[in-house]
Amino acid sequence: MNCTVIVPAAGAGKRYGNKTPKQYIDIRSIPVIIRTLLIFDEVDEIDNVVLVIDLEWQDFVNDEITKHKVKKIPVIIQGGEERQDSVYNAVELKEVREADIILVHDSVRPLASTGLFKQIIITAAQYGSAIPGLPPKETVKQVNEEGFVEKTIFRDLLRSIQTPQGFQRDVFIKAYKPAKENNLKVTDDASLVERAGYKVKVIDGEEANIKITTPADMLFAENIIQFGS
Ligand code: C5P
Repeated sequence: MNCTVIVPAAGAGKRYGNKTPKQYIDIRSIPVIIRTLLIFDEVDEIDNVVLVIDLEWQDFVNDEITKHKVKKIPVIIQGGEERQDSVYNAVELKEVREADIILVHDSVRPLASTGLFKQIIITAAQYGSAIPGLPPKETVKQVNEEGFVEKTIFRDLLRSIQTPQGFQRDVFIKAYKPAKENNLKVTDDASLVERAGYKVKVIDGEEANIKITTPADMLFAENIIQFGS
């Protein structure tokens, strides 16, 4: 079984509020994006890595890959305007076309475990699609545009979804093609797979597998790296 992971890393990180995009910031002397790439070296099932960046950063990324001895050297391509455009830019690559399983993993989730990757690969091979999710810890309410509660949503069946997300190749390609043609806007890859009519299996996510979005998240990640979860 051949497996390729696509890593969208072309975001400008506007919500983070820093000039340097958050994926290029160091946590204990190693950039977030390199910490993410280093996970793949420990997952034997992953054969190829496709890294989608703003090519302005290519020299920096190549230098850091060498410096930190990343073993699975990624194919590097240019990203797009939205996250899904960045992922779509990888669709025609032979590393994607010839893979049995495609994973998509955010560059800003450096704390996903190798075990989670393995479990997603196994589950995607079995069901076609697999994503990790955790029940929300807080009460979730739907509000109207004036900020008043419309309803409280029954929490037990909700999941907060993470990456890595895994798909059999045909499922992935059949989901992404029409999405590009119809310019659909989504926030994760599985949404496109759902729209294409496929079932998506949710497995247990990991609490430490946060998406670094704010400086507080960066501190949290640093603490986990220093002291463990
Ligand atoms: O902005 P957000 O944190 O949701 O981005 C999730 C991932 O998608 C990040 O790794 C980011 O770099 C990537 N991304 C991308 N292309 C974009 C926007 C975001 O590859 N245009």
